[in-house]
Amino acid sequence: MAWRCSGVSNSDLVNRLAQANLITSSRVKEAMLAVDRGHYSKFKPYEDAPQTIGYNSTISAPHMHAAALESLAPYLTSGAKVLDVGSGSGYLTVCMAQMVGPTGHVVGVDHIPELIEQSKKNTMQDHPEYIEEGRVVYHTADGRVGYPAAAPYDCIHVGAAADSMHEELVAQLKAPGRMFIPVGGHHGQAIFVVDKDSEGHITKKKAMDVRYVPLTDAEKQYSR
Ligand code: SAH
Repeated sequence: MAWRCSGVSNSDLVNRLAQANLITSSRVKEAMLAVDRGHYSKFKPYEDAPQTIGYNSTISAPHMHAAALESLAPYLTSGAKVLDVGSGSGYLTVCMAQMVGPTGHVVGVDHIPELIEQSKKNTMQDHPEYIEEGRVVYHTADGRVGYPAAAPYDCIHVGAAADSMHEELVAQLKAPGRMFIPVGGHHGQAIFVVDKDSEGHITKKKAMDVRYVPLTDAEKQYSR
């Protein structure tokens, strides 16, 4: 599934993902066309595979970014407030900023300060206005506890695999709200889609099996 969608340019990659039905929402397609992966990955940006971004981290594969945006699309509406835990390259943070529009707000959190600097530079090359107007902000912080200062969020994306469902994150969702989170360790990980309804009831649905960088301590990550 993955390699079939690799392209020679950003638009070629996105069109192939759409042809393979990995992108079905026109809003997701528009966002991925407007955010050039070439600014976020030094290596093979238009290949449908994860790539290293240093510090034992990867930019996720385009089909995983597409899956996250497709799942969160109903909550990535005009003016929405969003948290991206493990923002890494900044690519998905900026795609989500594209979808929430000028009145929206996206907070990207990563625990590696060098990656936060890199994501700011990447965003400045691609969409400087998002940083200048404050639509996107990046913070160095431990994302396992979310980012309470800007909570609650219409949706939360987690870009690294948690060993358990962090209740602090669920608590920072609005009612209604949705979180896309990989959960699990060495023996296998899966995406869970956590929905909070308008009365605050929580449902957790297992989506697909995946392989993500762990959501961990900064010291452990530097020394992996
Ligand atoms: N969505 C990003 C994924 C990067 S990989 C992208 O596609 O570019 C996962 C990221 O999670 C890494 O950048 C890693 O530094 C970060 N991470 C891991 N544990 C973390 C923690 N406890 N708090 C914040 N970020 C964390």
